[in-house]
Amino acid sequence: MSNKRDILSLTPSDFIKFLKQEKIYKFFFVYDNDAKSLKASHTQLQSIADYFTSDKRDFIEHEGWFCKISEKYDMILGAFIHRTNRGQAAGGVRYWSYDTIEDYFRDGLRLGAGMTFKNALAGLWWGGGKGVIAHNPEYDKMDSVVRKYIYQEYGLFMSTLNGCYVTAEDVGTSVEDMANVFSGTRFTTCIPSKFGGSGNPSTPTARGIISGMEAALDFLQIGKLEGKTVVVQGLGHVGEPLINFLFERNVKKIIGTDINQEIINSIKNKFSEKNLEIRLVDKNDLSIFSEDCDIFSPNATGAILNSKTISLLKAKIICGAANNQLEDMHVDGNLLHKKGIVYVPDFLTNRMGIVTCANEQYGYINNDPLIENHFSREWKHSIFNLTKQVLTEAKEKNIPTAEIALMLADKLSKENHPIFGHRGKEIIKSLVENEWHKN
Ligand code: NAD
Repeated sequence: MSNKRDILSLTPSDFIKFLKQEKIYKFFFVYDNDAKSLKASHTQLQSIADYFTSDKRDFIEHEGWFCKISEKYDMILGAFIHRTNRGQAAGGVRYWSYDTIEDYFRDGLRLGAGMTFKNALAGLWWGGGKGVIAHNPEYDKMDSVVRKYIYQEYGLFMSTLNGCYVTAEDVGTSVEDMANVFSGTRFTTCIPSKFGGSGNPSTPTARGIISGMEAALDFLQIGKLEGKTVVVQGLGHVGEPLINFLFERNVKKIIGTDINQEIINSIKNKFSEKNLEIRLVDKNDLSIFSEDCDIFSPNATGAILNSKTISLLKAKIICGAANNQLEDMHVDGNLLHKKGIVYVPDFLTNRMGIVTCANEQYGYINNDPLIENHFSREWKHSIFNLTKQVLTEAKEKNIPTAEIALMLADKLSKENHPIFGHRGKEIIKSLVENEWHKN
């Protein structure tokens, strides 16, 4: 099979069969800066490299991506490294199902670049990357024996990459899975607290969302959270502490929804004294979007802001933790902009998950400045200051906020680490010179 279209439309399982026929067990694609093109580890895969070199959507001159076939379960373990100027690529590892190998590559590329921008805006000295494990549908995703093996294998795979990418927890990956990753590598964060990890970051994430809301209110010059009505979609790990912080700031009312009855019951019990109106909804229910409110806070799933839902919105501000809230960054960002709704980009405010994990190896102190700085009004990279900067520039230039945030993130992500310089790229170069794919 030589046609790139034929190869890319294969399911991950069939792609693995193709690789095995060709006796390929590990492979990579690495960007050649001089030639401005991707180079594949194997000639049989060069057509894929050429295809992505000319892709304008998800490939943004990623420094490289490395993959191997699991030795036992026919899954693909991958590390997608976008940019390492600010430091080693950092971002979580996702265990997910994909229809085609193209979907798998695209997800890794998009998520990897997303981490570059989130880390740069957060002022972290980390580059951006993402791990993705393509699940094999022959096995139950929750099978604990398979999971243990796969995450341990992922840890060993990480070690072979010599530190160009440092992994972390992500959607579909639990703290126990991270303990299994940790058994095979030092290049991971987000490990269980009993091994020195930083623990669940949801409360700091919710605090970050509060900072973003306060910055947006300040930008609009409409006072503080006190007396405001806030809609919260999704009352899980972030939603619950968010409600707590909002009531601490004396909001007038919170309207919330969740699709899980147990969560609804638990939140009702916890906040029974407060002006909280919450209800169980079906996942396709759109009633929450047309609630009268000052702030709409998405804390459930991504891609919830689209032409249908935006037309319903009455909020002045959107600010929440859910990743990739805009179904289409440009189209929907523009719709919000035209409607005059202040959209606080998720990748600017929901940074505290990666922030709390990222610096675990530097230890912990009370009121840790590595954490508290993000909530301050002094530090230039704080959520409040950066949000205001982005909203102000967006207004001045008459451009959607997410686009301004991306431009800023892109610029910051090209600054080299003050001590290690652009070392991640050198690591990748060494891996290629050492013929990583043959070892
Ligand atoms: P969670 O799974 O604990 O909570 C999400 C809640 O949303 C669940 O209770 C779920 O039942 C509910 N939900 C799902 N679909 C819904 C719908 N259509 N309407 C209403 N409720 C719905 O997840 P979380 O940790 O609270 O994270 C929330 C979002 O923030 C996710 O998108 C996550 O990726 C993102 N995020 C979380 C963190 C963190 O620190 N936890 C950090 C960055 C980003």
